[in-house]
Amino acid sequence: MAFDAKIIREEFPILDQEVEGGKLVYFDNAASAQKPLSVIEKEAQFYKKDFSNIHRSAHELSRRSTIAFEEARKYVLKHFNAPKNYTAVFTRGATEGLNIVARCFGEKFLSEGDEIILSEMEHHANIVPWQLCAMRTGAKIKVAKILPDGSLDIENLKSLVGARTKIISIAHASNVLGTINDVAEISRIAKKAGAVFCVDGAQSAPHFLDDISEIECDFFACSAHKCYGPTGEGALIAKTDILNEMDVWQGGGDMIENVSWEGTTFRNAPERFEAGTPNIAGAVAFAEALKFMDSLDKSAVRVYEDELLKRATDHLMKIEGVKILGTAPQKVPLISFVCGNIHHNDISTMLDANGIAVRSGHHCAEPLMNTLGIKGSCRASMAFYNTLEEVDYFAKKLSSIVKLFA
Ligand code: PLP
Repeated sequence: MAFDAKIIREEFPILDQEVEGGKLVYFDNAASAQKPLSVIEKEAQFYKKDFSNIHRSAHELSRRSTIAFEEARKYVLKHFNAPKNYTAVFTRGATEGLNIVARCFGEKFLSEGDEIILSEMEHHANIVPWQLCAMRTGAKIKVAKILPDGSLDIENLKSLVGARTKIISIAHASNVLGTINDVAEISRIAKKAGAVFCVDGAQSAPHFLDDISEIECDFFACSAHKCYGPTGEGALIAKTDILNEMDVWQGGGDMIENVSWEGTTFRNAPERFEAGTPNIAGAVAFAEALKFMDSLDKSAVRVYEDELLKRATDHLMKIEGVKILGTAPQKVPLISFVCGNIHHNDISTMLDANGIAVRSGHHCAEPLMNTLGIKGSCRASMAFYNTLEEVDYFAKKLSSIVKLFA
């Protein structure tokens, strides 16, 4: 049966509202997705009935919270189809996950002259932690190029791999170009080189590109808030034996085995990386968001999101002066675009005046903006609760705005 966005929208009351410019069209999903009722209610119920701190007390509420938190971890692993040798560390989001890898793996195992391979399409969250790692270890960063359509230049990436390559860290899907990278192929390249493979899954996880057993990476970082869950929560799904070899992240309660003035011993992963009281309700609500995603027909959603993308692309290609950034054959449903000399902030402000929420700026990808020779762009990013009518309305308004400036 075809996917029906109109029914799904009933689960997202926030979408059904008038904003200053008219009926809300929410096309800023790549920044953060909206939350279904089940997630909102789960978090509220958890606080109303079961909440306490976890792991440390022998009372009923602590037991319930501990069970809910650990069940959430199990569900994250299940949703991402992680094989038995993986575990999930709860983090604040993809940014923290990538920082853990760069700091606790990178700074432990990389030394002067070792190489880290990234790509031109990375988000700052998958650049800056590696720059810090390179600064502290003397390792070098090599950057794989993109092709004119915004695909990753795999041949170029292969040419960068050498005896000193220790880690390849690449976005599964670009938050600017929309490109879906062939992570299974990159995994093979990394394996052949004896390098570790880290995937920034922030933009792929919301679109059901989430099968860790197929990706075969060593690390996969994602954010709950982009997957219809709460902010301040995410997961680093990684091979347990590698995590156990790594340096610890923050020090404090829960990550220790024994503490004495003579020295402290640390627990194994995942607790090793979860010092202090975690975002317990966030983890519970994250699992609920993944359950919501799993209640949908995954392949029907993928087909529908492709339809949204195609419709938006077809429209935008017809608007004179509009240039789409990234036309790779495999994309998540987002379109970044520039409109000649019109400033991207002017476009987004005028779209907002019509109720349409898009993002504008460098999208935390300044190096990519430099590669593309632009300062910024607008980005319309869609989710399965968006409708074709919204896409038509957006294109119609964009067309009039561009004409107005002409
Ligand atoms: N990586 C990519 C590709 C992203 O798009 C984002 C956020 O937009 C991040 C990493 C960082 O995610 P967060 O801010 O949730 O940690």
